[in-house]
Amino acid sequence: MTPADTAATHPLHATHPLALAPVGAPPLTVDGFVAQFLHNLNYDGGVTLSASSTNDRYLALACTVRDYLMARWLEDQRAQLQHQAKSVCYLSAEYLLGRQLDNDLIASGLAEIATEALATCGIDIAELRGHEIEPGLGNGGLGRLAACFVDSLATLGVPSTGYGIRYEYGIFRQTFEDGQQVEQPDAWLALGSPWEFPHPEQAQTISFGGATSTSDDAGVTRTRWTPAWTVHAVPYNYMVPGFQNGRVNTLRLWSAVATDAFDLRIFNAGDYEQAVRAQTFAENISKVLYPEDSTPQGKELRLQQQYFFVAASIADFLDRLPADFDLARLPDRVIFQLNDTHPVIAVPELMRVLVDERGMDWDAAWAIAQQCFAYTCHTLLPEALEVWPVELLGRLLPRHLEIVYRINEEFLAAVRARYGDDEMRIRDMSIIAEFPERSVRMAYLAAVAGSRVNGVAELHSQLLRERVLPAFAEFFPQKFTNVTNGVTPRRFLRLANPGLSALLTEALGDGWVTDLDRLRGLEPFAEDPSFRAAFAEVKAANKRRLNDVLQARDGMAVGDGHLVDVMVKRLHEYKRQLLKVLHVVSSYESVVSGRIPVSALQPRTVLFGAKAAPGYTMAKRIIHLINAVGSVVNTDPRLDGRLQVLFPPNYNVTLAESVIPAADLSEQISLAGKEASGTGNMKFALNGALTIGTDDGANVEIRELVGDDNFFLFGMAEPEVDRLDRAGYRPSEVYQADAELRRAIDLIASGALSGGDRSVFEPIVSNLLYEDRFMVLADFSAYVAAQARVDAAYADQDAWTRSAILNVARCGFFSSDRSIRDYIDRIWHTPPTL
Ligand SMILES: *Cc1c(COP(=O)(O)O)cnc(C)c1O
Repeated sequence: MTPADTAATHPLHATHPLALAPVGAPPLTVDGFVAQFLHNLNYDGGVTLSASSTNDRYLALACTVRDYLMARWLEDQRAQLQHQAKSVCYLSAEYLLGRQLDNDLIASGLAEIATEALATCGIDIAELRGHEIEPGLGNGGLGRLAACFVDSLATLGVPSTGYGIRYEYGIFRQTFEDGQQVEQPDAWLALGSPWEFPHPEQAQTISFGGATSTSDDAGVTRTRWTPAWTVHAVPYNYMVPGFQNGRVNTLRLWSAVATDAFDLRIFNAGDYEQAVRAQTFAENISKVLYPEDSTPQGKELRLQQQYFFVAASIADFLDRLPADFDLARLPDRVIFQLNDTHPVIAVPELMRVLVDERGMDWDAAWAIAQQCFAYTCHTLLPEALEVWPVELLGRLLPRHLEIVYRINEEFLAAVRARYGDDEMRIRDMSIIAEFPERSVRMAYLAAVAGSRVNGVAELHSQLLRERVLPAFAEFFPQKFTNVTNGVTPRRFLRLANPGLSALLTEALGDGWVTDLDRLRGLEPFAEDPSFRAAFAEVKAANKRRLNDVLQARDGMAVGDGHLVDVMVKRLHEYKRQLLKVLHVVSSYESVVSGRIPVSALQPRTVLFGAKAAPGYTMAKRIIHLINAVGSVVNTDPRLDGRLQVLFPPNYNVTLAESVIPAADLSEQISLAGKEASGTGNMKFALNGALTIGTDDGANVEIRELVGDDNFFLFGMAEPEVDRLDRAGYRPSEVYQADAELRRAIDLIASGALSGGDRSVFEPIVSNLLYEDRFMVLADFSAYVAAQARVDAAYADQDAWTRSAILNVARCGFFSSDRSIRDYIDRIWHTPPTL
């Protein structure tokens, strides 16, 4: 029996996306699924159903879902090779994927069959879905964006490959001890990894160190790099299924393995121990994800990681070209999209390959390279702009440093040709910074080499041109463009919010999942009382579901009838978790001091989720403070349970999927001009939370779309921030002038939240009073006033629900499918193949 027969004889599956799967895929029936599942359990897992553990069952289920996608995947890999259409190589050091089983069940359209099939075996599929440890191969927004993008690329059928690093340990697992963050290693591979396919036979050899030499070869100067050591990069392939379109793209992550040659040399010298140590050294390269978000630490191993994955990816791509391929046509075949500066070392690497290995002349190679790269900038913070000391780069990648120097020399010559010998300008624009130490500015290198430079929200792209790279925007005005970020509606609506998804499908049909603009059709439903009631019931059900999750993992719950006020994102001073804390402390203080009767408080649960970089002391102190505030507020009987602070540890994609659909209020309160885009803000709005936010990042576009009536705007806009900064900001004056603020800060300073010990939070208090780089105090009173507007609005539940529906209806723009279409139109010019 072929699958096509099965589909034809099973009405439910006649139009199933896998109905046309080639021979070899298991039959698309409950019985077919059961048979394949049991086969995998017995023959891969080596256990019987009755003897199997949850882990055995999870692995067998994962393999079964995989088996259904396999024929499509193999076909798509073959087709991409054969057609040789221009393809996108997305280069990203991070992919914050989230659980794969959930996603692949939905993408394959197998969720119903699988659920029924497992029930036939007496298994609740929910238990197996909950068993998966998510691959946390990213820090936060940047890594999650890459994961949304590969999902959209597959759903849109764009020929593409995501390239990255298979970290053995992803982002740390966060626990709290006495309210303080403790980091545990994330052993996500420990229980087996059914989603990956290693291909050691396709390993690339990556070189480091050594020296270069030049020789004159019949009048042509040739440079040779003689490296000191090498490591193997072994690719692991992951399926990236499009949403029910029969398309399966590939994510290819590299793992470091010691090369035999390297070990043997030492081993032959008779030092076995040293040989083993050498192996460990090489394999360290893909051992662990650096847990810094936005604040790179300039570690040597990190540069090794960057070069390792980028060199392997370029070599891998070139290996797939026909043997007789004319490299002059490379720009017709590929665009390497650089996700932030992490992969920018790809620029000198491609030049090295073209010039040194393929014998191309420099100018021809440079003309090609300039068309093959495009760069996405993700920041506005100067400390986040990556630089590599020349000393380090020269030691690790001597040939690449020479190439960077030559690129810079020629670029500065062009600058001189345009502006004359304006030494100030030359120093400003040089790829090489001289102070505080000689180093390579990776963003500048990317701006010089890239065919396009994009910011990730309208405001960010504007500030990128005006503040971060103004000289480059003037020199290359045609390069600069914007692509506002997006999020995948598959994971963040369809998967995370099945209740709302069903309601949307009932109202609009199911096309919204791949055409999110259709949410516009929801606007009239906002005026329909019965729809509002159904929408409100979904939100209430999502709060109950969140409570089940929180109860099970942390023994917590949001309060009954509470406004659920959520701030989940990495802990960073610019994101201003402290502003939210001050608001909570202020509410608490005004009740316990008797200035406000507790009955006047709108019942609220404030839910935080945030990891701090392990070396970021101030961020860790803020985590400690949030937990301290929670212990005091949650247990004070005078609050009558009307104010609660929850801080479930280890915020990750899986927790986001429970938290975001349950939220009423989305906190997006960064200092204006600091958050490049944000994507959490989009997830919340799409799930019917109202935003309280500053005019920052994509908040600006969210507010424009949903309308001022459906968004709580507060605080300084970027030009005001800039003016205040220039005028000289003195936070202690704000403190002196605002009694409410003073009472909140004084309460923290008093030690009342830290068992009487004033020293614990003193660094936070003095930082706020005397530095306050992100102007928390300056925006405090506006924030408190906006929160009062929130309370007033929430009192009218029906009007609130109407606003929430309008948020959903008007945020279709924030689908990552739209972002990818913008990349295609503005940057890549690849033909979609679907
Ligand atoms: C979306 C997401 C982020 C990014 O959140 P921002 O509020 O945009 O900073 C970070 N972490 C996880 C787990 C996410 O899903």
